[in-house]
Order: sequence, then C-alpha cells, then structure tokens
Amino acid sequence: MEDMKDISKKLQKILKPERFEHTIGVMYTAAALAMKYDVDIEQAMYAGLLHDCGKHCSAKDQMKLCKEYNIKLTESELEMPALIHAKLGAYLAEHKYKVKSPEILDAIRYHTTGREAMTMLEKIIYIADYIEPKRKMIPALPKVRVAAFTNIDEAVYICAGSTISFLEGTNRPIDTLTIKTYEYYKKQIGEK
Ligand code: FE
Ligand code: FE
Repeated sequence: MEDMKDISKKLQKILKPERFEHTIGVMYTAAALAMKYDVDIEQAMYAGLLHDCGKHCSAKDQMKLCKEYNIKLTESELEMPALIHAKLGAYLAEHKYKVKSPEILDAIRYHTTGREAMTMLEKIIYIADYIEPKRKMIPALPKVRVAAFTNIDEAVYICAGSTISFLEGTNRPIDTLTIKTYEYYKKQIGEK
C-alpha cells in the first residue's frame, strides 16, 4: 500500500478543493467511528481517504476510464452515472494506489449504495461519507450523526431511506442495492 501522505498529496492535486476537503473529513470521521467500533484505524483512514478517488473527473470521463480498464458496468450504473465513481475508485485504489486489502476495496466499492450485511468497515465508510463535518445540512443529518455513534445500523437505515426519498423526489432511478440496503437495515433494527 502506498504511504497515506503520498496518496493524500496526489489526491489534493487531482480532486477539486471541496472534494478534497470532503475526503479528509471522511477520513477522520471514519477514524473516529473505527475507535468507537473497534475497527483497525489505519484501514478506516485509507478507505476514507480513497473512497472518492474515482471522482477526479466527470462522470462521462469516469465511464470512458471504465471502458479502458475493462470495468464492467451494470445497467443501473449506466443509467446512474453517480454510482460509477465507487466502482472505478475501488479499481484505482487497487491498481494505482496499491491497496491490497479486499476489505478496504469493498468499503470503497459499496460506499454509495451500501449493501446487505455490510462489514463494520463498510458501514463506517458509508456513514462517514454522509456525516463528515463539511457535509451540507440535510433534514436527517443531526439524527444520523447521533445514531452513527449509538446505533450504526439505525444510521445506515436512515441514510439509505433519505437517499431513496431524495432520488424519488428528483425523479431519478434508484439502484437495487440501495433498496436492498434500506430493507435489510430496516429489518436489522426491528422497524416494521
Ligand atoms: Fe462518493
Ligand atoms: Fe464522498
């Protein structure tokens, strides 16, 4: 794995300033959640640092890169370009930043949609992306920030639910993984 400092320097050069600031916010928020849930702090920081590394160019260019690297995109990813950076990011983390840990790569791959039965590291990155300090205020945010440190499954449930309402509100398609995440964590916390 490349040194965290070197990766950070590279990302600062290729990401827009706000995106880089968000990235650092996610990295430290992930570290705090890792402390709370007894997850390897360094792994959480690497995953946080790299979670949006696929967002260094436009969705159109991300698609081109996927073609170039032979990354197969699903029907829903082609329909929802906002999802592509996660898959591309996992690829870049592995091949460009030399991340070997499959756990870190999966945390990057599933940070936008979540999935059923996530590992703690996956939940941490999914949530950190949502609650990092610079994140713009959305209605559920204060509640999610509390839940993140008290009942992380509930935090995942609220985030997935709010993503779904947001997409519904803007008439955009919703990935099946997002719906599965919502249903799974709804059951997990015993919500009817
Ligand atoms: Fe992202
Ligand atoms: Fe992000």
